[in-house]
Amino acid sequence: MTRTPLIAGNWKLNLDHLEATHAVQKLAWLLRDAKHDYSEVEVAVLPTFTSLRSVQTLIDADQLPIRYGSQDISAHSSGAYTGEISGGMLAALGVTYSAIGHSERRQYHGEDEAMVNAKVKAAFSAGIVPILCIGEGLDIRKEGRQVEYTLAQLDGALAEIPAEKVSTIVIAYEPVWAIGTGEVATPADAEEVCGAIRVRLAQLYSDEVAKAIRILYGGSVKSGNIAAIMAEEDVDGVLVGGASLDPEEFSAIVRYRSHVTG
Ligand code: PEP
Repeated sequence: MTRTPLIAGNWKLNLDHLEATHAVQKLAWLLRDAKHDYSEVEVAVLPTFTSLRSVQTLIDADQLPIRYGSQDISAHSSGAYTGEISGGMLAALGVTYSAIGHSERRQYHGEDEAMVNAKVKAAFSAGIVPILCIGEGLDIRKEGRQVEYTLAQLDGALAEIPAEKVSTIVIAYEPVWAIGTGEVATPADAEEVCGAIRVRLAQLYSDEVAKAIRILYGGSVKSGNIAAIMAEEDVDGVLVGGASLDPEEFSAIVRYRSHVTG
């Protein structure tokens, strides 16, 4: 089973729609000049909601092979939910992915496992691929409970999601202590939890499903450390925050294979 690596940039609360289209253009130019093969390594960006329409227009007009997604999604499909954006609205903008359960949403917006599970269901209902973010904080890591903690998050997020839906999901293992801190997990740290996630997916579903699902690592990934992380067996890509805002740096991350082969 070959899993196409996915390099996804989470822009967080950065880049308005003009800056976002500029960033996508620059990324596309850099990857075109480098003759990047998107079928070998998939590329996605996650702009703010207000930039999605502009990014869609640019990508469609120039037929760029870059995918895009949202950083969140409402658990609801419509109704009296002020400020929410539904999966149907995102699908209408050609969104491929929605990040769900990012640690910043859990921390600052009180998202719990039930909410994350509802959002995963909402994404699937709208035909959007969830990028489910899970991972432990520093206290849990210090206690050595990173695997059990992260797997409990996985179990909660996937409750009542049937096998026929789940196989397209992307899981992002993001240790919270490594997000935006410059503190990157070692490749072995990443593999320990990503490997355990795959074993759990096999237990919850089947070997076939577990082998099909892409598991990303996220946390202070840069062009200088990605190749070693991607060399791990169960790491199928990365979710990049800060470093994805700079198209030069992000394109260097996307071209991680050239770092190894020179
Ligand atoms: C993230 O926000 O998902 C992330 C991994 O951020 P950073 O790369 O900045 O650590």
